[in-house]
Amino acid sequence: MEILRGIAVSPGIAIAEAIVLDAEDYRIPQRTVAPADVEHQAEILERAFAASVAELDRQRDGWSNELGQHTADIFNWHLGVLSTPQLRTQIKGLIQESRFSAAYATSLAMRRFQRRFKKIDDPALAERVRDVRDIERRLLRHILGETREDLAHLSRPVVLITHELTPSVAASLSSSKVVGVAIDVGGPASHTSILLRAMGLPSVVGVTDLSSHVSGGDMIIVDGVNDIVIIAPDAATLKQYRDQQNRYKKIRQELTGLRELPAESHDGVEFKLLANVEFPSEAAHCIEQGGDGIGLYRTEFLYLQGRGDPTEDEQYEAYREVISNMAGRPVTIRTFDLGADKYTQDKSVEREPNPMLGLRSIRYSLQRLDMFKVQLRAVLRAATEGEVRLMFPLIISLMEFRQAKMVLHDAMEDLEDEGIPFNHDIEVGIMVETPAAAIQCRDFAREVGFVSIGTNDLVQYLLAVDRGNEKVSRFYSSAHPSVLRVIHDVIKTCRKAGISCSLCGEMAGQPLYTMLLAGLGLRQFSMGPHDIPEVKKLLRMCKIKQMERVAKRALTFETERQVVNYLRAQTRKLLPDDPI
Ligand code: PEP
Ligand code: MG
Repeated sequence: MEILRGIAVSPGIAIAEAIVLDAEDYRIPQRTVAPADVEHQAEILERAFAASVAELDRQRDGWSNELGQHTADIFNWHLGVLSTPQLRTQIKGLIQESRFSAAYATSLAMRRFQRRFKKIDDPALAERVRDVRDIERRLLRHILGETREDLAHLSRPVVLITHELTPSVAASLSSSKVVGVAIDVGGPASHTSILLRAMGLPSVVGVTDLSSHVSGGDMIIVDGVNDIVIIAPDAATLKQYRDQQNRYKKIRQELTGLRELPAESHDGVEFKLLANVEFPSEAAHCIEQGGDGIGLYRTEFLYLQGRGDPTEDEQYEAYREVISNMAGRPVTIRTFDLGADKYTQDKSVEREPNPMLGLRSIRYSLQRLDMFKVQLRAVLRAATEGEVRLMFPLIISLMEFRQAKMVLHDAMEDLEDEGIPFNHDIEVGIMVETPAAAIQCRDFAREVGFVSIGTNDLVQYLLAVDRGNEKVSRFYSSAHPSVLRVIHDVIKTCRKAGISCSLCGEMAGQPLYTMLLAGLGLRQFSMGPHDIPEVKKLLRMCKIKQMERVAKRALTFETERQVVNYLRAQTRKLLPDDPI
């Protein structure tokens, strides 16, 4: 049994066999598979060879037309290596005799092959080392691509172990048999972590080197409460965790009893508990958990799931589905927040040196006006079907907000000219998720219809800590005194200006911060649907004065540690059984 520590990002306990997903360009660790999987690995290998040969054939023909016979000859050599049976037989032998995964067996055989060329003292042949590496990469790309495809067709529950996980692959897990996730890299507020939480998959990230310790078929426990992953647990540990898993399920069931009760404090002050969603189907989940509406619809996931730009009609259908599923409850649609770890880096020819400070979010939309206008048209059309608000992300200046509104008016004029019905009076607001917007909140409050505080990014930019990087995750905290003060200022400013203010960062769904935020004057919380019942439970236990006292005291502390210790002690008094 081996216990590794990471950062828990989605609560709960998962117990199942591992499936290990390797990353291209990442050293493939030695890995064995369960005996029942050996044949499947051999088939994956066969298909990877066939796909590589077909691909090379196509490319060689194209290249010989464009670049001449010499270039085509180089690839003939690649084709020769892939077509002779020896290499294939050797790799297959490694799979069948040593039960190595197709990826590891390929990487091992190809390294041996490379070493043979390295030993020969002939510059002409030294070039062959690079060719062999090239062939290896080609084979691995097909093998690993197929493993990723496999995720959608699993026949039994598994824990997914991987070096890294992009938001788009994470999004595909919702319809798979994956019951838990553990990742080598990643931070608590990364978009991948948010998605894992939204899908209710117990997950731990930042478990350095985990993927090289685990083989497919190993029994794994993901403890998404205590920040640990256990490999090959002994019988006693397994029993202890199965009991804990049952207790956790029972607590969740008890919480569903709160569904029909209003979100209000013990002395009757009303709150709105809204949901953050990424997919239209999650709207039903929001209602199941007793949510009062959607406070943040992250529309960029339409891009992350699909293969290209979603059309206006595809978007219109998705927005309409959310709105109609919410049956009259309010829905806040946020325009695309693409960039950084979401989508555009994958597509861009040149990687940005600092993507989190780069061409992301509203900046990207304002550069791609064609795409932006299509989205605004779709939102405006769908907004005739319910109570819909439109929100722009990552705004840093009034000019930027005004520019975005101009594009919105353009889209309105076009729809008008075309005689297409749309909502003329849609309310437009912004996310306050940059220090610039927070500091200038008073100016914004005169022009915007509402604000929503995005603490995931606000914390990142206030503290200069990458929200997705496990190496600095200990510095990333919503309890930093500067964060508390900024949130307090924004809430007060909005209240004075008479505009609605919600908070839709992950902090809104963490019981640790419930009393603090309510005490600071927040009345609208937007969070992952899963988190709604517990926050509601806590609010219903407290009187407003009590929460105001907690907030007032929390604001007096000078260090993050003091804030966390104080809030933890206060919350534990009310929820003694909760792992806060
Ligand atoms: C935020 O930054 O707090 C937020 C809600 O937006 P996202 O997590 O999608 O960046
Ligand atoms: Mg954000």
